[in-house]
Amino acid sequence: MNTAQWLLRTAGVAGDCPALMRGAEPVASYAEFAARAEALARALADGGLMPGDRIGLFMTNCPDYLIVCYGVWLAGGVVVPINAKLHAKEAAWIVKDSGARGIFVTPDLAEAFAAETDTDLIDISGSRFARMISGGRFPPVSRGSDDLAWLFYTSGTTGKPKGVQITHGMLAATSLCYPIDVDPVSPEDAAYYAAPMSHGAGLYALIHVRMGARHICPVGGGFDPVELLELSERLGPTSMFLAPTMVRRLTDAAKATGRDGSGIKTIIYGGGPMYLADIEEAVDWFGPKFVQIYGQGECPMAISSLSRVDVADRTHPNWRARLASVGRAQSMVEIVIGDDTGTPLPHGTPGEIMVRGAPVMPGYWNAPDTTVKTLKDGWLMTGDIGQLDADGYLTLQDRSKDVIISGGSNIYPREIEEVLLQHPSVHEVSVVGRASAEWGEEVVAFVVSAPGEEMDPAVLEAHCIEYIARFKRPKCFISMPDLPKNNYGKILKTELRRFLEEEA
Ligand code: ATP
Repeated sequence: MNTAQWLLRTAGVAGDCPALMRGAEPVASYAEFAARAEALARALADGGLMPGDRIGLFMTNCPDYLIVCYGVWLAGGVVVPINAKLHAKEAAWIVKDSGARGIFVTPDLAEAFAAETDTDLIDISGSRFARMISGGRFPPVSRGSDDLAWLFYTSGTTGKPKGVQITHGMLAATSLCYPIDVDPVSPEDAAYYAAPMSHGAGLYALIHVRMGARHICPVGGGFDPVELLELSERLGPTSMFLAPTMVRRLTDAAKATGRDGSGIKTIIYGGGPMYLADIEEAVDWFGPKFVQIYGQGECPMAISSLSRVDVADRTHPNWRARLASVGRAQSMVEIVIGDDTGTPLPHGTPGEIMVRGAPVMPGYWNAPDTTVKTLKDGWLMTGDIGQLDADGYLTLQDRSKDVIISGGSNIYPREIEEVLLQHPSVHEVSVVGRASAEWGEEVVAFVVSAPGEEMDPAVLEAHCIEYIARFKRPKCFISMPDLPKNNYGKILKTELRRFLEEEA
């Protein structure tokens, strides 16, 4: 089944309903959305696109993003979404690795990118694109569940980005789980694209298309918390994915402008660790609208989710432990905690999170060796360390590559980071291991101080003595103006470790 058929079905029953919007401005109804996508598919097919051919999208969030995705799918092609925040050279590397035969770009990115690639570029503000989306109808090219639909490059937190192969079947499976596990979608709803549509959040579009809900792109392309608060009040029930730092910005903006976010239906957060103080403050302000997801490109959208009740119900005796968890397995996946060999461990024992089920990738693009290391006997080895409790709640400890082994004991940096973050002088912190002749590795904390504060190692040491066992306490605190982050806002521990190696 071709994923794009969902658009044609919705256009058939709700063609007049608004589909694509830029802020509050309607851009296309479902009938217009489908007609433009079909015209694009015809233009691509006439231009020689064969089923399975890759097409890159290097675009900031905009309504045309979805027209291009559906056009490529209808023509039997594979979408290669490229994060618009990447450097043109990084984007060019992805285009080369994927073998994309054409790339759609937004005008803000076109010039810099043209200098880096020989591949055919189609600027969506140009007359060529306008012609491509105004032709006639086109019957969807038939696709099977195992056919590739979305070639997603990971964010490269632990090394070079890897191309995750996502099939039409995986997209259907994970989309059908979404209304059950994350957010029940109805035709009155709106999906707001605060995070890059090139990332997992862009795939939320699928179920919103199937249900005939509206798709709202920020006017400026990027996340604007005040715009979001205003729009949701005007447009009604609005759902979105926000990275943890965006939740913080939204809460700050709502408090500063005195808005209660009454139009917001659901805020899905995840993609990286969320500071507990931030989510508590957000729930206090907005109410029970938060659902956490834990996922990775290799199992798109969600491996597990923490429901809005679990996030907000302070009366539950296990509320705090549950809030610190990433919830329970998504409906179509199975989670097991295993040791180094993949052998399952008993409940409560930390180990590698292993995942199996319909939304799990069949392998990486052009990387058979990495695929063999990541998929073992049908299980996805996530590279994350966690533990399951008896009720099936999963708590993440850390990424296996980040675990510090000191004097033979495993130390999970996140635990130390959470403690240090409770200190008022600390704005951000990242904990890594440094080679030590005595212990194998020792703990080092990189600290960004809160505005107006100066880091005092003695004060932080005293704070750690109160909460953390001696062997886990940082041996050294290093003050930093900022932490190195990638384009998704994830802290690059590899760079912090390299800094320590160069210092040694
Ligand atoms: P690469 O594989 O190239 O290093 P990456 O793993 O950062 O990149 P993504 O697929 O974007 O690529 O990120 C997935 C990872 O993000 C997960 O494996 C997990 O470590 C982290 N993560 C996702 N959701 C959460 C969450 N809710 N809480 C904490 N960490 C999360």
